[in-house]
Amino acid sequence: MAHDWGSRDTRFIELNRRLRQRLVEIVDGAENYTCVPLQGSGTFVVEAMLVTLIPRSGKVLLLINGAYGKRMQAICQIHGRAFEVLEWPEDQPIDPAAVKNALNADPALTHICAVHCETTSGIINPVHELALVAHKAGRRLIIDAMSAFGAIDLNARQTPFDAVVASSNKCLEGSPGMGFCIVRKASLFECLGNADSLVLDLHDQWRAMEANDQWRFTPPTHCILALDQALNEFDAEGGVAGRGARYRANCEALVSGMRAMGFETLLSDTLQAPIIVTFHMPEDINFDFSTFYSMMGEKGFVIYPGKLTVADSFRIGCIGRIGLEQINGALAAIRETLQHMDVRNCGPGKDA
Ligand SMILES: *Cc1c(COP(=O)(O)O)cnc(C)c1O
Repeated sequence: MAHDWGSRDTRFIELNRRLRQRLVEIVDGAENYTCVPLQGSGTFVVEAMLVTLIPRSGKVLLLINGAYGKRMQAICQIHGRAFEVLEWPEDQPIDPAAVKNALNADPALTHICAVHCETTSGIINPVHELALVAHKAGRRLIIDAMSAFGAIDLNARQTPFDAVVASSNKCLEGSPGMGFCIVRKASLFECLGNADSLVLDLHDQWRAMEANDQWRFTPPTHCILALDQALNEFDAEGGVAGRGARYRANCEALVSGMRAMGFETLLSDTLQAPIIVTFHMPEDINFDFSTFYSMMGEKGFVIYPGKLTVADSFRIGCIGRIGLEQINGALAAIRETLQHMDVRNCGPGKDA
């Protein structure tokens, strides 16, 4: 990343081609899928996917159980895409049977849209079952797998989806700065003129890249280089299986260590993705989250505030270049911090 590459230079063009191919291989997309990268954070490519794939005459069924589902609703509102919403509380997964009924009830629905791991809570949604429901009903599934891609299996040969988006900086462990959409070529082919945006038009970006393997507008060269290297490390770890196994080990150690201190998780183990864990805020009167947060930070551990509406909570991530050593270090830092604050009861309050 410390070296400047020319974005129109042949070596860089070769890198673009290789990177797109490698990303398609992660979902086993072979000849039927292509990868369209896009500058920006993850939300940029979520918005690009929605405005490119959903025709202005289309209608999307939004399946919402957290803030990222809500964000897709905001995008559809801004771009004037017709939508219908099915919503669940943040601690409950999307129910495929309800989706099936909604599709049967409204023939105008062309697409369904779901978040694979809802990072708001850390819940895993049943994407495979949703894909089968969509396929049977002749509708198209598009997926925000931002926080799952590369760690939770998604195979295009087994799970029929139209498009999935993710970014460079979550489970792929690259630097922030770009997202990508892996999309069925036959579907993308039909998307000429759908987008009501120039920079977010994935069809146009695709056409340009197919023509000369270059990005339409200045690419995040350093980020692209870093992602290529991150994929070398991903392959060395054994791909999705290897990375997923490390994250699961992190998650299990974190949850059991926290439970041993008296903390309670929001989700049961069967609903928990090994990505980020939500814990109920302790009821102990001495527990103060901002003190907890900053003392953890001083010890080198950055945690996450809660993002839930259903319960007062905080979150701890399991992903990134961390293993059991770091998880055990975090648990030790939590024990010390609790002792310092004189917190004895880490269980949730009555209203949790
Ligand atoms: C991180 C994330 C995004 C994108 O967030 P950005 O801040 O724009 O990178 C979108 N959806 C989900 C599920 C995420 O976890």
